[in-house]
Amino acid sequence: MTENQLLKIAQDFGSPIYIYDAEKIERQYKRLTNAFKDVKSLKINYAVKALSNISILKLLHTLGSGIDTVSIQEVQLGLAAGYKPEQIIFTPNGVSLDEIEVAAKLGVKINIDNLSILEQFGTKHPDIPVCIRINPHVMAGGNAKISVGHIDSKFGISIHQIPHILRIVENTKMNINGIHMHTGSDILDIEVFLYASEILFETAKQFKNLNFIDFGSGFKVPYKTGDIETNIEELGKKLSKRFNDFCKEYGKELTLAFEPGKFLVSESGNFLAQVNAVKQTTSTVFAQIDSGFNHLIRPMFYGSHHDIVNISNPKGKERFYTVVGYICETDTFGSNRRINEISEGDVLCFKNAGAYCFSMASNYNSRYRPAEVLWYNNKAHLIRKRETFDDIIKNQVEVDFSSKKEKALVK
Ligand SMILES: *Cc1c(COP(=O)(O)O)cnc(C)c1O
Repeated sequence: MTENQLLKIAQDFGSPIYIYDAEKIERQYKRLTNAFKDVKSLKINYAVKALSNISILKLLHTLGSGIDTVSIQEVQLGLAAGYKPEQIIFTPNGVSLDEIEVAAKLGVKINIDNLSILEQFGTKHPDIPVCIRINPHVMAGGNAKISVGHIDSKFGISIHQIPHILRIVENTKMNINGIHMHTGSDILDIEVFLYASEILFETAKQFKNLNFIDFGSGFKVPYKTGDIETNIEELGKKLSKRFNDFCKEYGKELTLAFEPGKFLVSESGNFLAQVNAVKQTTSTVFAQIDSGFNHLIRPMFYGSHHDIVNISNPKGKERFYTVVGYICETDTFGSNRRINEISEGDVLCFKNAGAYCFSMASNYNSRYRPAEVLWYNNKAHLIRKRETFDDIIKNQVEVDFSSKKEKALVK
């Protein structure tokens, strides 16, 4: 997409706004499947939580993707988007047995990451096959908040507890159809990934009825020039070979599964916001935009970097700005960024705003969440309307403090 096309969409649909380029999502999907083309049975399950708009889910469905879900509502969204239950895997953490049973009843694949739940589920439903989420205790994440493989992580069942899993399986006669790991977001080094995979293969040998091995995700995309990116092509080559060898050893053609979120959608996204005011202090030039961490929280929550471009003045002289929001708390999107000269009313574009951006947006400060547009076949498709005051008030229940009964209670 060009900057002019982005700007035109902001003019037509208003600001702030999220815009996703469908072609980029398709390219990333094909890059991944191509990297693993030597594996006979490959399954990509898009991690819905990265960007959960139903039109994005439908787009990925047309490409042949399945989905990875973490809540029963994401399962429902997937079904509404046209996924068959068997194309959906439910990988929750810390949810109730009830919620897992609802998903199982719908026919989606179940992934369990807790011994207590495994035992209860296996006792009640020995006929429903489940996948087990293993924690290989490999520190792969680039950030403490998104790294989930360490020894005291709440995710997965520790590899040191395999004997306990085996005992539960034997006692309940349940069937384990898959082994899973997800070592966390932002894997920098594919050797670390391959190392964790070896642990998964070792584990897989202990289960005789597997259909698939799920290697999770955590692929890194570049957020700024010079950033390292997971070398998918090299990982594909090395892991495919290792996987094919393992299948021979195991005596069965298994499915290799992945569940990427960020890799598929991050770079497709642009977040556009308008500059309300430029404010100079003794030390800083602030560009204050019509947004805040209610719309894009990654910079404040994770310290993430998103490139910021002034698409209204792409040829302007570069100056230093600190870009901040309108929330009544410190909400800095970027400090001392070199950006083409900003005038009030200009539209700024935040790059890599596809993953964990809109999906983490809120109504804090009673602001509306932004609209979303999908750029598909050279056309802008509105895929989420901008909210209205009705969305803010609709679930709030007013107490009538003027009625006699309530007055009597106050006394
Ligand atoms: C969030 C999540 C993913 C996706 O991670 P990305 O870093 O966005 O690729 C995959 N699997 C599970 C279980 C997750 O919770």
